[in-house]
Amino acid sequence: IDTHPNLTGAAPVALSYELFPPRSPAAAESLWTTIGELEATDPDFVSVTYGASGSNRDTAVELINRLLLETTLRPLAHLTCVGNTPQELAEIIGELLDNGVRGILALRGDLPKDSGQPVNGSLRYAQDLIELIRRVEQRRSALLCAGKIAVGVAAYPTRHPESPSVEHDVEVLLAKQRSGADFAITQVFFHTEQYANLISRARRAGVTIPIIPGVMPLTSLRRLKRLGELTGVEPAPELIERLAAADNDAERRKIGVRATVDLANAALQAGAPGIHLYTFNEHACALDVLDKLALPRPARPASRLSAIARRQELV
Ligand code: FAD
Repeated sequence: IDTHPNLTGAAPVALSYELFPPRSPAAAESLWTTIGELEATDPDFVSVTYGASGSNRDTAVELINRLLLETTLRPLAHLTCVGNTPQELAEIIGELLDNGVRGILALRGDLPKDSGQPVNGSLRYAQDLIELIRRVEQRRSALLCAGKIAVGVAAYPTRHPESPSVEHDVEVLLAKQRSGADFAITQVFFHTEQYANLISRARRAGVTIPIIPGVMPLTSLRRLKRLGELTGVEPAPELIERLAAADNDAERRKIGVRATVDLANAALQAGAPGIHLYTFNEHACALDVLDKLALPRPARPASRLSAIARRQELV
């Protein structure tokens, strides 16, 4: 059974997607096709990644602005400590808020490969960035009476590569909650029990914020290998074997989607409040996963539907 049995009549489950800023005009064109397809599924938010060095700052802000102006989607802007000074970060946060962003994912970012050390003068941990966001927010709301900003953070079902233990990771998550994080999204994981284990460790330690599982439909061995290099997360050996044995792309897509649906269902069984899909800026696998999961979603408000319909008439 694809649909989780306990979900019948259950509270709605949140849905979100991760996108990254396009690196070329051709990539931008295909991304906007993807955005159109994903918008039709009425997600709660779409997150937009940010290069740790800050190098794609302009394309990230441009994508976020277009999402705000041209779609009904709510962007969650990723932001990292490592590539910018605190002053620059405060300016970026101000610019995002001015443009209408109401959600930021506060991250440290991966350390520069050459030195393995934070850049001199940059904030050290994601926790410091949360505190900076809250300070900027406080200053602005005194002036503008603006609404609260939702701040998300990263959580790790498998040990963060620089961390001594999964227990330490949970202590860090608790510290991020105390500094003002509202929710967390997990790093990718490939074993069905890993999300449930993270939740029990986190709850035992006193973490109460929602922790949304991040799941990634992986359909190519090349991507699996690259992901392992980037995140330090070991892909499940069975998934590698099955993808390696597949004859063609259609079969690999089926395998990747099936594995993702299994992970998402296990997370929902463990009480996940939503599903965050890493999309690689492609919609086909994300939509396949959604189709098989059949998540209980809130009915769409008429105003949003008509906004989508209006835009379709314009295309
Ligand atoms: P932190 O929470 O600061 O942790 C970093 C390390 O420091 C960990 O080992 C932690 O154990 C340790 N640590 C933290 N606080 C303390 C403390 N007070 N005392 C002692 N040790 C501490 N990267 C990007 O560059 N761009 C992105 O857009 C991006 N998006 C992501 C989205 C998600 C959902 C996730 C899960 C990761 C994302 N990353 C992104 C990767 C992320 O930047 C890396 O995993 C990075 O190495 C750690 O980021 P963090 O925010 O978890 O850092």
